[in-house]
Amino acid sequence: MTRCGFVAIIGRPNVGKSTFLNQVIGEKVSITSPTPHTTRWAVRGILTQDDVQVVFVDTPGLHKPKTSLGGRLNSAARAAVDDVDAVIAMVEAGAAIGPGDRMVLRTMAETCWHPEGPRPLVVVNKIDRSSKSNVASQLVAVVETLREIATELEMLDLFERTEFFPISAKTGDGVVDVVAAVTAVMPTSPFMFPDDEVSDVPEATYVAELVREQLVRRLREELPHSIHCRVSEYEWPHITVEILVERDSQKGMVIGKGGQLLKDVGIATRLQLPEGCFLELRVRVEPGWQAREDVLDRLGY
Ligand code: GDP
Ligand code: MG
Repeated sequence: MTRCGFVAIIGRPNVGKSTFLNQVIGEKVSITSPTPHTTRWAVRGILTQDDVQVVFVDTPGLHKPKTSLGGRLNSAARAAVDDVDAVIAMVEAGAAIGPGDRMVLRTMAETCWHPEGPRPLVVVNKIDRSSKSNVASQLVAVVETLREIATELEMLDLFERTEFFPISAKTGDGVVDVVAAVTAVMPTSPFMFPDDEVSDVPEATYVAELVREQLVRRLREELPHSIHCRVSEYEWPHITVEILVERDSQKGMVIGKGGQLLKDVGIATRLQLPEGCFLELRVRVEPGWQAREDVLDRLGY
């Protein structure tokens, strides 16, 4: 019988969430060929060990629970939040617990309030940068902060259920313990992904499609066929979409007078993305990209 479930990783930008994932998955998690019909937002890494599959998700809905997210992405993000089996709240060893960390801990608490709900885990990362005693005092600080939050929310049992881990995502120190803890709470379920898949970033394709849609609406006739959009960088909240065209003259048309067309495309696309997203658009001339085998390969056709 297999087990499979979802783990949300939340934390301020830069605390080391991506590094942790890369360490867990054991290879650079990058945009790979997307699986169609996957509705969840931001599946970032999939770990399959024997008969257990752990799917790590990075949900914008958890980063900023109060913001209104747009359209399709909204429901996907919410679905991901509703369905997780564990929440990892990550803070840094070497920085005082600030308001951002408090919000992260509070989000974890609110998501994990039910005794049979998702398992709450707090990870103190970057311990390689701090002395042992500083790591210890940071653990104490984060325990105290969570106790305060739990008291305020009248969720003392949540506090009792929370596990704390000092780790270094960079060196891998302590990471196996976190993996063991989340693996232990995965429910009985069939695998959601093929067991050789390590990442699935369907939203990358989706964002590229949104950009293309906006371009097509604004450009005439045959030009749309000469355009290809792809996400070249996806590191929430930073997304870079590359717009490939075949000729210099087309580049000019895509950019528009004074850059206006491209600007409008950016604005219209951003409106459909979760708040806080930084979208960058780059136009590149790739002569005859449609005809060139190597380019087509790279684009995943
Ligand atoms: P994210 O924004 O939470 O995904 O953070 P990243 O994984 O991108 O990491 C932000 C920065 O912290 C990068 O420069 C990482 O190399 C660094 N970092 C992450 N984890 C560790 C760690 O365990 N130790 C040290 N020294 N640096 C780390
Ligand atoms: Mg990251």
